Amino acid sequence: METYDYIVIGAGSAGCAVITRLIEAGKSVLALEAGPSERSPLVSIPAMFFRLIGSKRFWMYQSEPEAGLRGRPFFVPQGKTVGGGSSVNAMIYIRGQAEDYDDWRDSGCPGWGYDDVLPFFIKAEANERLAAPLHGTEGPLVVSDSKYRNPVGYAFLRAAQEVGIPFNDDFNGFQQEGVGFYQNTIAAARRGSTAATYLARVRSNRLLTLRTQAVVDELVLENGAAVGVSYRGAGSEKIQARAKEEVILSAGALASPKILLLNGIGPAAHLGEVGIPVRRDLPGVGENFSDHVGAPCFAKLNVPWGFWAQDRGLRAVRHGLEYLLFKRGILNSNLIETGGFIDTSGAGRPDVQFHVIPVLSGDVGKAPPPFHGMSVNPCVLRPKSRGRMRLRSANGADPIVLNANVLQAREDVDTLIRGVKLARRIFRSPSLAKLIEQELTPGGPEEIADSRIEDHIRTVAKTVYHPAGTCKMGSDDMAVVDHQLRVRGVPRLRVADASIMPQVTSGNTNAPSIMIGERCADFLLRANSA
Ligand SMILES: Cc1cc2nc3c(=O)[nH]c(=O)nc-3n(C[C@H](O)[C@H](O)[C@H](O)COP(=O)(O)OP(=O)(O)OC[C@H]3O[C@@H](n4cnc5c(N)ncnc54)[C@H](O)[C@@H]3O)c2cc1C
Repeated sequence: METYDYIVIGAGSAGCAVITRLIEAGKSVLALEAGPSERSPLVSIPAMFFRLIGSKRFWMYQSEPEAGLRGRPFFVPQGKTVGGGSSVNAMIYIRGQAEDYDDWRDSGCPGWGYDDVLPFFIKAEANERLAAPLHGTEGPLVVSDSKYRNPVGYAFLRAAQEVGIPFNDDFNGFQQEGVGFYQNTIAAARRGSTAATYLARVRSNRLLTLRTQAVVDELVLENGAAVGVSYRGAGSEKIQARAKEEVILSAGALASPKILLLNGIGPAAHLGEVGIPVRRDLPGVGENFSDHVGAPCFAKLNVPWGFWAQDRGLRAVRHGLEYLLFKRGILNSNLIETGGFIDTSGAGRPDVQFHVIPVLSGDVGKAPPPFHGMSVNPCVLRPKSRGRMRLRSANGADPIVLNANVLQAREDVDTLIRGVKLARRIFRSPSLAKLIEQELTPGGPEEIADSRIEDHIRTVAKTVYHPAGTCKMGSDDMAVVDHQLRVRGVPRLRVADASIMPQVTSGNTNAPSIMIGERCADFLLRANSA
């Protein structure tokens, strides 16, 4: 029987932060990652990530037919490799709003207000341009300005200012509102995943045992406490390992609740339905699912700008050589270089985020039309709709049942309608209007009915890849973990990933997930330092 101080399930954004900090503190760690190694040019070259979706480095989750999407499923692809989401994502570095964390604190999570979490964002960060008081310069996670900027992004920024949205030089600073260039987790022209930044620090340390293609579906519980795991290695044989201290579940917002449910930790009624003996009745497991939902708006450009067809023929060769020889050019791009945060309701804080892509880009499996275009994708920052994930059966190999329930809350639809209207105004302001041959979707004359915009939204709405909330932290009956990420009623088991967010943060979720990992390691080291 293998024995370690800690076992971490899932070496993703949060998991790698937990693993690294534990190793640095002299603890032995078994890290079990279901996916393969992250070592591939498709992962490390920033602009190549769009080719990863659907590959062996992705879990291709999808919901049941969704009423809010006119019966379409909601696809939620998630990272499945060392580094997790941070190895396959668009690398945008956003922390969210100070109010997000104050809201967490006030909802029953003492110690999670903005002032509490800020030191952990700073500890994680090595920002190449920004420093104290709000930014860190000595952490593992390199945060940088894009070394390539497409002219379509500049045009978007000018056009947005023409409709009155201010330029913002730091979305993670004193104010989130405005449009600007995103900062990215890119270091020296390579993706700065948590594998390449955090884990790289300890990868050759003998205290770390990292197993890839190691799928965990069984927790070993003794007297109700987690003492180890049983996992399937690459050869599909079952291997048991014990943790002297604790087991940390960092498998992400759709796999962490799945693993809890498979082990009888979850709503008793549901466990009964799938024939799993109840070990701990926790009604909140798998509930409270939410995601940022976006409704892309497309325009055809009259200039040969943007990314369309840049991966073909002689152009691809030129970009490849430019990157290999000089670390310059389009391959340095994270593709979504610009965007913004806008208060569309006048309530005092942004409720819509824009992701701007200088190419036509829609939902999974939808081939873009063959010409130069741009996508402005408004998404709802604090969705009110809540979904649920459940087991299909007691067999861990079966896919989950996801009822994402996106766009069920009227407020989410209304927020998106305001976001789409604003995107249309930006398309029509001088700096973009002169580059646009045709607004494709939703299109139409200057004034169109809200019902038509809603129709567009329900037809194209898609994930922004930020599922969260399914093992929420709190102190109410639906809370799965307490404010120190301990699974309620199951000693020696914690959850650290995006699933613990009581409400998804207002922005991209990689940096918040890493912060959650940092906090988990801190709790563990304090609790077990005797
Ligand atoms: C395509 C895409 C683009 C994105 N773009 C951005 C962006 O630009 N900026 C941003 O901030 N966020 C972005 N995100 C979101 C962000 O990457 C995630 O929110 C974040 O990575 C979540 O971290 P996590 O630790 O919760 O889970 P993950 O990073 O997903 O880690 C979970 C890990 O657990 C592993 N695992 C799952 N089940 C098991 C099992 N049974 N046994 C062992 N291991 C298991 C998984 O393979 C995975 O590696 C994007 C995500 C995607 C998918």
